[in-house]
Amino acid sequence: MPSCETQTMLGQARRYFTQMAELFGSDLILTEPDVLSRLNGSGDPQALSAFCESIRTCRKCHLAKSRTRFVFGTGNPRARLMLVGEAPGEEEDLRGEPFVGKAGQLLDKILGAIGFSRDEVFIANILKCRPPKNRDPEQEEIQTCLPHLEKQIALIQPDIIVALGRIAAQTLLGSTDPLTELRSRVHRYAERPLLVTYHPAALLRNPEWKRPTWEDVQKLRKLYDELVGDKPG
Ligand code: SF4
Repeated sequence: MPSCETQTMLGQARRYFTQMAELFGSDLILTEPDVLSRLNGSGDPQALSAFCESIRTCRKCHLAKSRTRFVFGTGNPRARLMLVGEAPGEEEDLRGEPFVGKAGQLLDKILGAIGFSRDEVFIANILKCRPPKNRDPEQEEIQTCLPHLEKQIALIQPDIIVALGRIAAQTLLGSTDPLTELRSRVHRYAERPLLVTYHPAALLRNPEWKRPTWEDVQKLRKLYDELVGDKPG
């Protein structure tokens, strides 16, 4: 994201409730704290923002030399659902945001199909800086950058994590199993469930993977409803 100001759902939710109250009267809708407690987890937005500021000029690996912008991540800093991809691509590097462009639009559609918007979840990558020509991240880069993501997860405290693609899945799970195998079960990461599915960029290249992805996100929504509770919308 262009700056370290984290977006919270609080402002959006307050605007929504104000509008609803103006239209229908405040006694016809759920009270704000009731609903907000269902939308937000126990993450720490201020600490997340401070952490972003503290690493936005990171030069711990050689990708700092070729990046245009550092890409921290975006979304609700108290998200109950967090998605982790691989690394910024060309557009993400230019804009400082993860999952923009066609892969990002597809991700928005996938989230929308199971009732989530981008603002409700938090989206980040294993690497915060773009590998040249979108090559696969190198192990040294991954191991150098991984503590940033681990700290992000600790501050956001999502209830569920989804790894998007092989690199994210293998890194978070410390596995060399192929993606098809990792997709088939619910894993644990830092005491929370972790699901694996295809990266949206891979879906653009392989449309036949859309059906298995649909099955994965159905499983995700079911797990979310079981663990977090039915969400509005
Ligand atoms: S990829 Fe990660 S470790 Fe390397 S410079 Fe960027 S933020 Fe730092």
